[in-house]
Amino acid sequence: MGKRLWRCHVCNDLHYGINPPEVCPTCGAKRAFMLIDHDEALRIIGPEGGEIATQETVIDVWRRFGEQSPEFKLTEKGEEVDLLSKGVLENRAIKGLKYCPCRIPTGDFQKDLNLICPCNFLRQNAYKETGECWCGLFVKRHKEVP
Ligand code: SF4
Ligand SMILES: [Zn+2]
Repeated sequence: MGKRLWRCHVCNDLHYGINPPEVCPTCGAKRAFMLIDHDEALRIIGPEGGEIATQETVIDVWRRFGEQSPEFKLTEKGEEVDLLSKGVLENRAIKGLKYCPCRIPTGDFQKDLNLICPCNFLRQNAYKETGECWCGLFVKRHKEVP
């Protein structure tokens, strides 16, 4: 069974997954999620919902994502962050989603969801071997010195 959209009937939180959360992470209601369709989800989100459209907000989200992790952080190479954030926003404008600037979407929507930045780079061989994601955007906090 594939992933579907769910909505908390108490606080309108949305969830995308095979099963809904047992407890709503926002309002704490138990077993409050029901299945909804794409249109309903879009209406809840609204035209501005979840929109992260400027280079500053993209970088800010990346930075905060790295700060909350004990494992990795955003690279300190400012020029690369600048280039990659531009690339991600270019993909957003041309291809509709913030795809990784270093990889080419296949055209298969489900598969390409894995290419939205930040991706699940922890499982990439490149990350395991070099301590950096494919594009060097996220790096291991404590890189081992060989
Ligand atoms: S490889 Fe790095 S830059 Fe590319 S999507 Fe993953 S996290 Fe983003
Ligand atoms: Zn809720």
